Amino acid sequence: MTGHVSLVGAGPGDPALLTRKAVARLRAADLVLYDALVDLRVLKFARRAQKFFVGKRAGRHALTQHAIHAVMIRAARRGRRVVRLKGGDPFVFGRGGEEALALRAAGVPFDVVPGVTSAVAAPALAGIPVTHRGVASGVLVLSGHDEDAFAATAAQVGPNVVTLVVLMGLARSAALATRLMASGWSRETPAAVVVDASTARQHVWRGRLDELAVTELPLDTSGPGTIVVGEVAAMALMSQTGQPGRVRQVGEFEEAGHVGR
Ligand code: SAH
Repeated sequence: MTGHVSLVGAGPGDPALLTRKAVARLRAADLVLYDALVDLRVLKFARRAQKFFVGKRAGRHALTQHAIHAVMIRAARRGRRVVRLKGGDPFVFGRGGEEALALRAAGVPFDVVPGVTSAVAAPALAGIPVTHRGVASGVLVLSGHDEDAFAATAAQVGPNVVTLVVLMGLARSAALATRLMASGWSRETPAAVVVDASTARQHVWRGRLDELAVTELPLDTSGPGTIVVGEVAAMALMSQTGQPGRVRQVGEFEEAGHVGR
């Protein structure tokens, strides 16, 4: 008997943002391999499964990507139902595509269960729509991990054309903002940083691109953060005052709970 692998998106953190299919896969799982950004509350749905952390902690990978492939393939061949659980959506900077290729090459049956990506959910939970009629007609999701690659891709699109959503960029936010201004983005462009979105620790910084370039973000958690750059970043739809084009709290963090939660 052959088992099965599901590449499952765990969403940004709040278990209520899991899809019903994700919950069903977790309940049926024999083995769950999960990443660093998966919320522990989500893992609780996998009551009968063995659970293994395979992500990166303190800069070190618990398992190499190749070893993760090998574990999934071996377990499925032994007839086990495997869930490969990733934060957000498995195919947005999650290496889900590589895993799908490895499973296909091994002839192991698999499926993908899309998740709510933080690229859209983190801005949304701060009251920021990534597109808005008359304000932003498109959105570009970029990794901030490699500053040069980031700058090269952003430059292809041209300054102040679409909303930029930057994942994995918190540690380099000032440098990334500087690179955008160097490639022609206006200094006054609104920017926002949403940290620990969908959790009780959610925090939002709002300001302008030139402030982001000089700001040491007063981050009070070591949690993940999503950067939004563009006119929509000034919006705070769940607050009384946040209108398009108006910066609400320049350079200050809003408390969790004040932003539409
Ligand atoms: N596949 C994931 C992204 C993986 S890259 C997805 O679709 O969401 C990891 C990055 O996602 C982090 O560096 C951060 O930029 C962002 N991120 C993940 N969870 C987040 C959260 N709860 N709040 C804000 N940003 C988050």
